[in-house]
Amino acid sequence: MFVGGGTGFIGSHLYRILAQKGYEITIISRHPGDGFITWQDLKRHGLPSDLTAVVNLAGHNLMASTKKFEDMKAVVSSSRIDTTRQLAEAIQMCDKPPKVWISTSAIGYYPPSETARYTEDSVCRPVDYLSQLCVDWEKAATLPATVPVRHVTVRIGIVLGRDGGAIKQMFMPFLFGVGGKLGSGEQWFPWIHVDDVAGIITHAIETDSVSGVLNAVAPLPATNSEFTEAFAKAMWRPAVFPVPAFALKWLYGPERAKALLEGQHVSPKRTLESNYQYLYPDLASACKEVARLMALM
Ligand code: NDP
Repeated sequence: MFVGGGTGFIGSHLYRILAQKGYEITIISRHPGDGFITWQDLKRHGLPSDLTAVVNLAGHNLMASTKKFEDMKAVVSSSRIDTTRQLAEAIQMCDKPPKVWISTSAIGYYPPSETARYTEDSVCRPVDYLSQLCVDWEKAATLPATVPVRHVTVRIGIVLGRDGGAIKQMFMPFLFGVGGKLGSGEQWFPWIHVDDVAGIITHAIETDSVSGVLNAVAPLPATNSEFTEAFAKAMWRPAVFPVPAFALKWLYGPERAKALLEGQHVSPKRTLESNYQYLYPDLASACKEVARLMALM
């Protein structure tokens, strides 16, 4: 199978699971290497026929730099939308297309709200740059109805894992006992453990009856305060230093700070109905696993 962005935080966890199961995996990357092809190679040669699956997890990290967001938007968008469109087009050109196409998106599809309750069935209109990005990203993945490929869109929540995503950013403050909730802490925090994101993608690859949108979030919702408390407890540290909203706005600018200071209540209704069994359904077990890995470092 082919995995775009297979070198990344989620992609490398997925790679490990799929490799353990005996799948042969080629990564699509910006950089050449053993077991890799580049996006230029893909443009030139297309995809081989009759693959088991094609997955895309490529995307420039939104939070990795404090660079002015306006200057990052073109690369943030194109690294998701153009790579996804390129794969969707390559799938259509295949003599014998892959059995399944797994494209990804984010829970930013759902507008932030303290009161709304979202599932995969919620149809939302974009309200800001990030929700518009998700709509465009999902649209780029769409295949014409005439292409006989099962398509699953995985909308990913805030991913917890030691080696990337939100925890990588919070690791140092929490380690030194100066971690805390973000802003009021009352905003929803639609989290998921990285092994469950990889697990849901693997489940979607292997389960012929799954198609359409799957929310990759944990089944038990939490607020930012509840997450902060659980993570601090797992780290045996206090969490008494809230990060004020103005500091996040100063650091990341208002649009990215909004993604941290506001949240969505998202349920994985279709993911549960598809019989996916979560490895880390509750915050305590997920935080404990992440903290245990930290202790080993
Ligand atoms: P990473 O930041 O780890 O990046 C994934 C891969 O994207 C990288 O390994 C890189 O591969 C590729 N990439 C980075 N920048 C570019 C670029 N400018 N153009 C093309 N490819 C690029 O991402 P994650 O694993 O954390 O996330 C994977 C996907 O899931 C992303 O699209 C992300 O938006 C989405 N997601 C992630 C969440 C999270 O909390 N982590 C939450 C919601 C959605 P290479 O260097 O090999 O080219």
